[in-house]
Amino acid sequence: MSFRGNISPLIILSTGAAGAGAALAILGVAESQYYAKWSFSALAYGFGLYGLVGMVLGFGYGLLFGGKGRSSRRAFLAYAGRVAVLPTVGLWLVGSAFIIYRDLWKESIARAGFWGWAALLLIPAGAFICAALARMIGKVLCNRSSIAAAIILVLSLAGLLFCGSGQSTPEINEEFYRPLEKPDGRPSIVIIVADALRADALGAYGSKKVATPNLDAFSTEATRFNQAWSTASWTRPAVASILTGQYPRSHQAIHKTDRLPESLPTMASLLSLNGYVSVASVTNVNLAPVFGMGRGFDVYAYHGPKPFLSAPQTARRLFLVELYRLARLRFFPGQRIVSSYYAEGEQVWEVARELVGPLATAARPFFAYLHFMETHDPYFAHPYDGTAVARVENPNPKADKAAEYFDLYRQEIEHWDSLFGEMITFLKDKGVFDRALIVVTADHGEEFADHGGFWHGTTLFEELVRVPLLIRFPQGAGAGTVRDDPVSLIDLMPTAMSLAQVK
Ligand SMILES: [Zn+2]
Repeated sequence: MSFRGNISPLIILSTGAAGAGAALAILGVAESQYYAKWSFSALAYGFGLYGLVGMVLGFGYGLLFGGKGRSSRRAFLAYAGRVAVLPTVGLWLVGSAFIIYRDLWKESIARAGFWGWAALLLIPAGAFICAALARMIGKVLCNRSSIAAAIILVLSLAGLLFCGSGQSTPEINEEFYRPLEKPDGRPSIVIIVADALRADALGAYGSKKVATPNLDAFSTEATRFNQAWSTASWTRPAVASILTGQYPRSHQAIHKTDRLPESLPTMASLLSLNGYVSVASVTNVNLAPVFGMGRGFDVYAYHGPKPFLSAPQTARRLFLVELYRLARLRFFPGQRIVSSYYAEGEQVWEVARELVGPLATAARPFFAYLHFMETHDPYFAHPYDGTAVARVENPNPKADKAAEYFDLYRQEIEHWDSLFGEMITFLKDKGVFDRALIVVTADHGEEFADHGGFWHGTTLFEELVRVPLLIRFPQGAGAGTVRDDPVSLIDLMPTAMSLAQVK
């Protein structure tokens, strides 16, 4: 390649693409390593996505600014360095601020703390290092820019194509179905959670606005707890309390990035150690395996939302993926389909049925945890016609929206109630209903301007922490009883443990 005279546009464009592509691919690899250490799928995807985005930015920069005054080698080298530096430093600044705010500040300035502020001060220093590295890469690659661009393009595409899903389909171990020498005799345990279902929305709890015939019928065959309280007003800490029998302050799964500590015994881990088969079929990103909620389950079937940009499970927290997801959901309501948010109840139930069906006739008792999202926003109209309201599009609705939103919420509850009816019929058909402990509850409630706000995770008023709790004890003990004494979701674990004779 000669630098005498005018430099060809192709070299200018490929220099931009190669320099920025390589520099951003390194950032992508570093970020994916931060989320999922040594995961091939995360590393390949991080390289591929960031590499491609870098190439597009570098190419674009070349088109806009690369045409003039590049006749000397010196000027061209300076250009090559700069074209790699600009997108890299830009992404570093925005991405690292986003990650620090989310992971260190826990999304609140009040929680920033010493290290949170210290990390913020390190951003410019990091930007300086990024700039120096990117400049070096840009200059080195410009000597063979077409070849370098082709190699980075191929590697990026290969990374995206071969990253895989990072998820293996759970399969139940044949061992679980082997007959025991003598039947175990302890009850199976089924916990069914409807996310964000407030207690007073059920007919069984006095609602006149919502028709919940199946839940109401179940309540007459169960014990209804009138004063059941969650330990939190959003999913992760509340479900962690169900699974560990501990308050959030003890189990420590409090913030968005927290995972359940490895050292904490869970209902699933103790039951599995004591001869139960533990299975789960769940949907809600807060219950993704990465947060440790699946620990102790023999099979933990997590059904995530449809991945944006085809990101594997291990790479969904990458800044660019998250940014793209939020932008799509917020500004392109055409994306308002259930699978963008969670898996439909029918899918969660189908897998649960496949897992529980064979276990129903096995001598070994089982523990099944099922978690549904129908009653969580977005609230879709039924029959489904694409009408929905979603928090991501409208975080702070006006109070006069309460009736309209509640009517959509009602439709979701009624839709889920009919699915719940199928579950109970199935458990009866399989002979589980009378032998098992069956718990139906919610992780928290939902607000409809009761105190001026909407959604959940915002306050600890009754509409957010009072939950329905219907418990069918083995052999229908106490069926039809109504209890007014206060109980908490942390009481579920000791109740289940004592029936399972786990000491
Ligand atoms: Zn929830």
